Amino acid sequence: MLGICKFCGEEKQLVQSHIIPKCLHATNQGRMVGINATTKFDMNPNAQNGYKECLLCADCDNKLGVFDNYAKKFFYDIIPNASTDISDGFNIYNIQSDKFDYEKLYKFFVSVLWRCGISSKRVDLKKYQQIAFDILTDKVQIQPDLFLPIICKKEVEHPSNYATGMSPGRFAGKYAYCLKIPGYEITIVVNTKDSNDPKSIDMYKTYFCKNCIKVIKMDMLSTVDKLLSHKVELNKKTMPNLKY
Ligand SMILES: [Zn+2]
Repeated sequence: MLGICKFCGEEKQLVQSHIIPKCLHATNQGRMVGINATTKFDMNPNAQNGYKECLLCADCDNKLGVFDNYAKKFFYDIIPNASTDISDGFNIYNIQSDKFDYEKLYKFFVSVLWRCGISSKRVDLKKYQQIAFDILTDKVQIQPDLFLPIICKKEVEHPSNYATGMSPGRFAGKYAYCLKIPGYEITIVVNTKDSNDPKSIDMYKTYFCKNCIKVIKMDMLSTVDKLLSHKVELNKKTMPNLKY
C-alpha cells in the first residue's frame, strides 16, 4: 500500500507493522492482546499476531525495529541473568550501566508509545506525541523527566502475564501508560514534573537511569491484572478523565 510514512513523512510503500512489536508477543496459546484507547480494555483473543497497521515504510520500520530487538534482549536475556538485591523494601534485579544500553531502551519505550499514538487505537498523548517523535528523531535530547518507565517483572503465574497491550492509567497523580508484554508490566509516566508524590518519583528515577536499572519483582497481581481478570465488568465502567 502506497502512503505517507508517519515517521519519515515521505510517500512510500508502507508495510504492515505491529504496534506492539511482534518479537515481544507471547508464543503461548490463548494469550490476550489488547491496546486500550480511552475507556475500556480492547481485548481480542483472536488477534493472534497482535494489532497490525500500515503506518511506516520498511526503512523506518527497521529503524524502530532496532529498539524492539534490543528490548527483547533486555527483557528476556539481560534481566533474567542479572543479580538480585533488595532496594527500598523491594526485591529487585539490579542491572549496572555496563550491562545495558540506556538510550536504546529509553527509545524503545518512547517508540511504543509513539506508535500507539499514531495507530487507529487513538491513544492520545497530546503534545507528548510530538515530543516522543522529536526524541526518536534526535531533535530533542532524552529527558529523564519525560517518559519514565517503572519496570516490574511478574513473579507469580497468572494468565494476564501473557497479555500484550497498552492501557492508560495514573501514577502519582500523573498520566501514565501501562505496557504489558509477556512476563512484565511497565508503567510509563509521561511527565513526572509536579506529581503529587515527588518522593516516589525521585526514587523511581533512580530505578531507570544511566547508572543502573532496577527491575522490581512483582509477586502479587497488579491492578491491571485484576482489571484484565474482570474485563467484562470493566467494559461497563469508564475510566476517570485524566489530565496531563
Ligand atoms: Zn519512512
